[in-house]
Amino acid sequence: MGLFSRAKPVTATIGDKTVSCLMCGHNEFWSREIKLNTTGMELFDVAWANQSALGLVCATCGYVHEFVGDAVRMWEST
Ligand SMILES: [Zn+2]
Repeated sequence: MGLFSRAKPVTATIGDKTVSCLMCGHNEFWSREIKLNTTGMELFDVAWANQSALGLVCATCGYVHEFVGDAVRMWEST
């Protein structure tokens, strides 16, 4: 599973809002799971320390947006 294993980028929504790149404002992303259970996480006294995060990599500029939890829905681009 490489970073660009998907054939097409996806769009993402949180609730009724479309996720747009913080840098360039485009809304197509490559998705990637990011493991958070790395060494040193004991510094963070939080429940999500051993979960994974969702990484949305902007298909235009490459900026990585990270999300923890399941609020983000991803949609195949047409
Ligand atoms: Zn971007």
